[in-house]
Amino acid sequence: MRLFVNILFSIILVFARLLRLPQDRICQWFIQINNRLVLTSISSGLKEEHLLLLIPHCLQNYDCEFKITARVKNCRRCGKCIIKDLIDLSEKRHIRLSVAPGGTLARAIIKEYQPGLIIAVGCERELESGINDVYPLPVIGILNQRPEGPCKNTTLDMDRVEEVMRTIRLKAEGEVS
Ligand code: SF4
Repeated sequence: MRLFVNILFSIILVFARLLRLPQDRICQWFIQINNRLVLTSISSGLKEEHLLLLIPHCLQNYDCEFKITARVKNCRRCGKCIIKDLIDLSEKRHIRLSVAPGGTLARAIIKEYQPGLIIAVGCERELESGINDVYPLPVIGILNQRPEGPCKNTTLDMDRVEEVMRTIRLKAEGEVS
């Protein structure tokens, strides 16, 4: 079913480009459908340590001097950006957290960690291409927020991340169908 949606979406996207339709809206639709399918397919037994939370570099405060791409824990947790909250969450829930500045590094991280499920954060186009790139690996996409425009000082609705984590946990424990 996910493969069918991916192929259908690729065709729709070609037409959307030709007709100059708003591609972000179409990507949002694709991400929503993908997320539903992935959540539905989670089997019991998936452990939180098998999750990989993959985030873009633009979530980091633009003026921060600490380099977090190679090692996210270089963050000093000053709270000026959402990276602090994400590290807190990853420690609380025992999930892997990695910063991927681009598709090549993201693929290397995925190869190294071999996650059972990826929770990826990004903009519409990044998530759309990332979900298709790593298929059949399941990816749940969460859109970032861009109060200063794209690629700089972006942020994230942590309630949404917690909600996704809760749903995954309940599904893995077999408490929701
Ligand atoms: S929380 Fe502070 S130290 Fe950590 S990445 Fe953001 S600005 Fe830098």
